[in-house]
Amino acid sequence: MKQIFDLVLEAADLYSFLLNVLMDVYKFSDFDIADEEPFFAIEFAQNSCIRQYVCAEDPSMKIDGMNINVVAEKDVITYKTSLTTNIAPNYKVTIRCSSLGYKDGCKVFTSKQDVLDECLRVENIFVKSAPTDLVKTKGECCICNIETTLLEWPCHHSHTICEQCTNKIVKQTNCVCPLCRSVLPTTFLLKEDVAEKVVLDEDECQDYDDYYIDYYCQDSCLDDEEDFFRKQLKLKI
Ligand SMILES: [Zn+2]
Ligand SMILES: [Zn+2]
Repeated sequence: MKQIFDLVLEAADLYSFLLNVLMDVYKFSDFDIADEEPFFAIEFAQNSCIRQYVCAEDPSMKIDGMNINVVAEKDVITYKTSLTTNIAPNYKVTIRCSSLGYKDGCKVFTSKQDVLDECLRVENIFVKSAPTDLVKTKGECCICNIETTLLEWPCHHSHTICEQCTNKIVKQTNCVCPLCRSVLPTTFLLKEDVAEKVVLDEDECQDYDDYYIDYYCQDSCLDDEEDFFRKQLKLKI
């Protein structure tokens, strides 16, 4: 039988495994381990998209962290993750969120690496996007000079920029129109939805595969955090 002591040790072990990677490499903002308890909490990076996401189940609460509990199931160590929000200092509540796979409030993993992957998956599951209802026209993009599908930006009907250039601008902290410097309102999309959107636009894009690889694998977005998404793309290409 696993004793509580074993679970506490296991939690401490997982804690240091995650701490090194998540704090140092991915800039998660806080880790909090309780004394002699087989669980701990992590907090997502302050500027991560996940903190701004609104879950359909509870629109009033924003996810800011994850609780990780170490439990023994039939004497086998497992790790339970749940999404949380701070509603008071040191008081967290669990958020159910089916779009992130947390319909029942928690997920169960059996390896430390899987827990790490889950932390990164949740933190990086959204991408910042231009509004999805921009009017589309055909013409020459004023930035890259390519004749293609253009998006009409809300600042002026003649401020039309292609999707690729728009996406590049949206990725920047300062998301402004290159013609008039008006701020473009942005939204957050699930990365799965973005992949879906590109598939739907396939007939509008001559070099679909090149576009796909080019855009998502260009240096500016090519980093470890995109691994999850790129794996998904490879499955589709
Ligand atoms: Zn362009
Ligand atoms: Zn403009």
